[in-house]
Amino acid sequence: MLVVMKHGASAEEVQRVVEKIRELGYDARPIPGQQRTAIGLVGNDGRVDPSRLAALSGVKEIIHVTQPYKQVSREWKEEQTVVQLPGGIAIGGHDVVVIAGPCSVESEKQIVAAAHAVRTAGASMLRGGAFKPRTSPYSFQGLGEKGLKLLAKARDETGLLVVTEAMDPDGVDLVAEYADVIQIGARNMQNFSLLRRAGRSGKPVLLKRGIAATITELLLSAEYLLAEGNHDVILCERGVRGFDSATRNVFDITAIPLVRSLSHLPIVADPSHATGQRELVIPMARAAAAAGADGVMVEVHPKPEEALSDGMQSLDAEQFEQLMREIRAITDAIGRGVAEPLPAVSA
Ligand code: PEP
Ligand code: MN
Repeated sequence: MLVVMKHGASAEEVQRVVEKIRELGYDARPIPGQQRTAIGLVGNDGRVDPSRLAALSGVKEIIHVTQPYKQVSREWKEEQTVVQLPGGIAIGGHDVVVIAGPCSVESEKQIVAAAHAVRTAGASMLRGGAFKPRTSPYSFQGLGEKGLKLLAKARDETGLLVVTEAMDPDGVDLVAEYADVIQIGARNMQNFSLLRRAGRSGKPVLLKRGIAATITELLLSAEYLLAEGNHDVILCERGVRGFDSATRNVFDITAIPLVRSLSHLPIVADPSHATGQRELVIPMARAAAAAGADGVMVEVHPKPEEALSDGMQSLDAEQFEQLMREIRAITDAIGRGVAEPLPAVSA
């Protein structure tokens, strides 16, 4: 439930509404916005009598949020959320952010080479898993903390911000020490204890759509993060499982404009996991940018044929340069730009 204040309502009137909501036994969340001042009532179990709030001075109207997710919805917050990252990089604003790097961090040489290659081509963020959720227990599981340290080194050398995955609740704090953005992977989208922990991490979270998750389920998982007080949430469309094994997943491009209409949270696209095939990544990256994605995340490896994971869908440096050129052409056409990388901390 949302209590929308009249234009020009005083701070005291807003405060009175907040107190009233608390007296009723609920959580009150003032929602910042340029168009309107509203106070969200969190945890409505259907027993709140709206007339008790509507009668307060300065209140314009009471809005019932119809979606099962609340704080994540556009009904709750009309204005687009722009997630601010260190150095002024922002996801959800005018510029499309390109996140690139290998599936897994494999060695210092590999991650540093990948970082330099994607930075030179114009990416502003580096991806790479140190903790890998692999379908088979016998596949490469990642370098763990050593991988996080290598990502931090690559960040220092290139100025790229780092996004990397946390796989379990106990691993969140360690990942948060090194990452600029914590990734929650598709297999963990409904790991609710992980979501709660990441919601308290103090770091922005990139939440990937589950392997067979509906849009509503994705947004409800994001709600867990906001419910813990973390509003810096970036959603990620990475394809869902279909009936046809011709591609790894079915890239749900429609999810991009749909999520933008249902939620104020930014959405990025991952055409690498969505397709599973290198030749399909560039066209689907173009399509994602054209559909309104706030970012594109792609796997790039200095030597894709030697990759320890997802080599088939990894671009090499030259292909990534082509992707950047084509993304720029699309963003020019739709009145957006591409976020510029930050300067390196150490050369
Ligand atoms: C990844 O981005 O490294 C990854 C494992 O992707 P997903 O969780 O989407 O499968
Ligand atoms: Mn991968």
